[in-house]
Amino acid sequence: MARLSQRMVALGTARSEIREAFAFAQARAAVVGPENVDDFSIGNPSVPAPPSVAEAIHRLVDEIDPVALHGYTPAQGAPDVRQALAEDLNRRFGTSYDKDCLYLTVGAAASLCCCLSAMGCEGDEFITFAPYFPEYKVFVESAGGKLIAVPADIEDFQIDFAAFEQALSPNTKAVIINTPNNPTGVVYSRNTVEKLGRMLEDKSREYGHTIYLISDEPYREIRYTDEPLPWIPSYYANTLVCYSYSKSLSLPGQRIGYVLVPRTVEDFDLVYAAIAGAGRALGYVCAPALFQLVAARCAGQTADISIYKKNRDVLLNALREMGYTCAQPDGAFYLFPRTPEPDAKAFCEKAKAYDLVLVPGDSFGCPGHVRISYCVPTEQILRALPKFRKLADDYGL
Ligand code: PLP
Repeated sequence: MARLSQRMVALGTARSEIREAFAFAQARAAVVGPENVDDFSIGNPSVPAPPSVAEAIHRLVDEIDPVALHGYTPAQGAPDVRQALAEDLNRRFGTSYDKDCLYLTVGAAASLCCCLSAMGCEGDEFITFAPYFPEYKVFVESAGGKLIAVPADIEDFQIDFAAFEQALSPNTKAVIINTPNNPTGVVYSRNTVEKLGRMLEDKSREYGHTIYLISDEPYREIRYTDEPLPWIPSYYANTLVCYSYSKSLSLPGQRIGYVLVPRTVEDFDLVYAAIAGAGRALGYVCAPALFQLVAARCAGQTADISIYKKNRDVLLNALREMGYTCAQPDGAFYLFPRTPEPDAKAFCEKAKAYDLVLVPGDSFGCPGHVRISYCVPTEQILRALPKFRKLADDYGL
């Protein structure tokens, strides 16, 4: 019998409804043909990276000495890259960050793990808001903490502040938010962010220690209104931003992102050092050298998100017209409608009978809902509408 970490064996063998739904879709496609299966299970960007990414790669490969191009960089990322990314943020958000505020990572998942490991101590609690990205639980527990999920306000998926206040305690180390949100697509309003900042200030004072805010922002640029996105560190000084280019530039497989530590964060030097220490302990070494440079050259650009907007409009309007209830999703590429019966898993099983593949909200800590990832070709959405209609009819919507 292999002597292994039972926790890691459990993690490596645990069921994931998202992966299982995806595997079901693949298996059915092999039997009935891919054109007959409508898979809305995973959040892999369906729009290609902008052409500037390929141009940057070509130029970098042609112009830079390969030993330098593919070599290790400093652990926190190449200084000129970090400076370029800081300047991009300053241009867009009126801030004054510099290269030493940024720690480059292998995507938002690694950014989160670095922040959580940097601050996680025995007995710490990390609060997030349902529905939430399921990996938060894995990341928080790996950092020695406990994840506390505040129940959702299912009317609009903004924050239920009464429930949030109940979840806060002297053991609260940090609060994790994700706006625009996976799985709801909801974007926090300015009012929500202002209230959140005020509550964290009050509670930090009351408990006599800083409560950090970890803002997980891989969907920051994927938004469908002209309303400016509240820049979270402007509303709460002790905010750490976890970002990645996985979604904005459609580069999820290249693993490139960063942690931003604004200088307003209390004990800035120590916090940055702890994040670097966490990256070292986790064995990240440095972010991919080539894609650091690509990010520096393409920062602020996006893939063609008008395609996602079209998908959202077609699907949201049709579902509402069929009688489904869905909170307003103004960002990311997910819808999170209520299921017509309380058991979302049963609803997903019925959808499967039509080869329509969805993920139950239970996976995100919010039963009674279903996640639809609409980062798929628009033709798939059009093809799937009659299936959603049949389901609605089955339930008498
Ligand atoms: N956070 C959220 C909310 C996500 O949806 C994802 C990926 O889907 C991640 C973090 C991880 O992103 P990355 O691919 O940059 O590690």
